[in-house]
This record gives sequence, structure tokens and C-alpha cells, in this order.
Amino acid sequence: MHAAALAEISRGDPRFADWRYHAFDVEPERLPEALALLASRQFRGVNLTVPHKIQAVGLVAEIDPAARQAGAVNTLLLEGGRWRGFNTDGYGLSAGISGDLGVSIEGTPVVLLGAGGAARAAAVECLRRGCSGLWIVNRSRANLESLLGLLAPLAGKIPVHGIGPGFKAGDTPRGALVINATSAGLRESDPEPVDLRGLTGVRAVFDMIYNPPQTRLLATARALGLKGANGLGMLVHQGAKSLEIWSGVPAARTAPVMKAAAAKALGS
Ligand code: NDP
Repeated sequence: MHAAALAEISRGDPRFADWRYHAFDVEPERLPEALALLASRQFRGVNLTVPHKIQAVGLVAEIDPAARQAGAVNTLLLEGGRWRGFNTDGYGLSAGISGDLGVSIEGTPVVLLGAGGAARAAAVECLRRGCSGLWIVNRSRANLESLLGLLAPLAGKIPVHGIGPGFKAGDTPRGALVINATSAGLRESDPEPVDLRGLTGVRAVFDMIYNPPQTRLLATARALGLKGANGLGMLVHQGAKSLEIWSGVPAARTAPVMKAAAAKALGS
């Protein structure tokens, strides 16, 4: 995805001709050492994925407000020999939802499934964008309570409700955007994270999973005639925003070529 974008932007601008995107497997306890090494080798930037995103918050010299609120960093930029931390996951989520579903989070009630790292980033983004209310559904009560505790200082006037998986019709709002941020659906044998038939008047379903391209949840959404989209758009837009931070090239320019490359790599 990044290689395709770099090939595209270097065609019109020789500054990017020798830019390369590499993948490194780093043990969590060696992240500080790895970041120091990458800085000493003059890497322009870094993307971080699970499990490094939270630890990196404490390793950067400066942190962007969105990353601070999310409590996680997925993008680093080297400036004056020091790392600045950003989080483009929230941007990726809202750009994926508006681009693929034509739905704006602002003013929309959101039913969020899950309470792990991806759900946390999604919840913070929904609150930042001014959703009209947030209903978080999670299997285990302890993880749900922990997420609700983290969100309490960020919610302001937006109502945030936590509900267990055994909720009743009427516990969730009409016209909701349903976002799946659980890992249920990664395997074919996984159960659906929610029974969509138990929700009233769902507006659209966004499943953060992109491989497989169609989960059972999305198949059910389709069978019910609901708009649905997988997480490929989110993956692409967070990546395009990271590239914008490193290169200054607008994310909107590189996102289409990145999406085509990612879809091809995934065979979807
Ligand atoms: P975590 O392990 O941190 O959280 C997993 C969540 O899924 C928990 O809330 C867990 O519930 C729930 N869960 C797991 N299995 C089931 C099940 N069988 N039924 C109901 N709930 C279940 O994972 P992440 O938050 O990092 O990732 C979640 C998903 O988001 C993954 O599928 C990942 O691929 C996707 N993702 C997509 C991105 C994109 O760019 N499109 C970016 C980041 C993530 P409990 O608390 O009860 O254990």
C-alpha cells in the first residue's frame, strides 16, 4: 500500500524517489532501543501497530492532542532528532465510514461493539466528532467498565452507555451506525458480535475487519438490506494520513492508489 503510494508521488516529485517503507518485527521490550536506532539512521517516520501503540505514548518527545486523548500513538515523525507522536486511526475510521457508507459520525447515534484497543480509538473518535450518543456493547463486563472509565473525562455532554451482550430491543437507539471493533469475524467459525435483528432501525454497519472482506455480520447486514462496509477504507485512510504527516502530500491524493494496492494484495 505504501510502496504503491510512494511510486505514485515520486513520479511527479523527485524528492520522494528514494523513499522506502519497510516492515520490522520488534519485541515490545526493545521498542525504546528500536526507536533510538531508527532516529539515528534518519528514518523520516514510523508506523506502530499492536502491541506498541500504547507504550509509544511514553517514548515520544511531543504528542499530538488526538493521540494523547486516544492514549495511543500509531505514527511517528522525526523532527530535530526527536520523535513526535500522532494517531491517524481515528481519522481513518471516520474517513472510511464517510467514504464507504456516506455517513457522518457527527450527530449520529453510534452502537460500538467491543472494548479493546480498536474500540477505544473508535470511541474517542466518535466523541471527538460529536456523535449524538455512544452505546458500547461488550462481552466481558470488566473490559467494558474499564473503557467507560477511560471515556468519562472525554464525553462532555454526549451520553455514553455500556451494555452487555444480552441487551433487549429498546436498549439501543433508532438510526444507529453500528461499528464492529471486536475481533469476532476474523475466523469463519466466529459468532456474530451482535444480532442485528435485535437492533431497531439500524442506519449502516461498519466492520473494522477487512480480512475476510465479508464477515458474517456484513453478510447479515446485506441480507437485511442495510448499508455495510468493511475496514479496508479505515486501513487505507489511516495509512494515507500517516504518509501525509511524513511527506506533506494530502491523504486524499494517495488514498485511491493505496486502496487499489491493498485490495489487490488481499485478493478482494
Ligand atoms: P483486542 O484484542 O484489543 O480486543 C478484542 C475485542 O473483541 C474485545 O472487546 C473482545 O471482547 C472482543 N471479542 C473477541 N472475540 C469475541 C467474540 N467471539 N464475541 C464477542 N466479542 C469478542 O483487539 P483490537 O481492539 O486490537 O482489534 C479488534 C478488531 O479490529 C480486530 O479484528 C482488528 O483486525 C480490527 N482492526 C482493524 C483496523 C483497520 O484499520 N481496519 C485497525 C485496528 C483494528 P472481551 O473484552 O470480552 O474480550
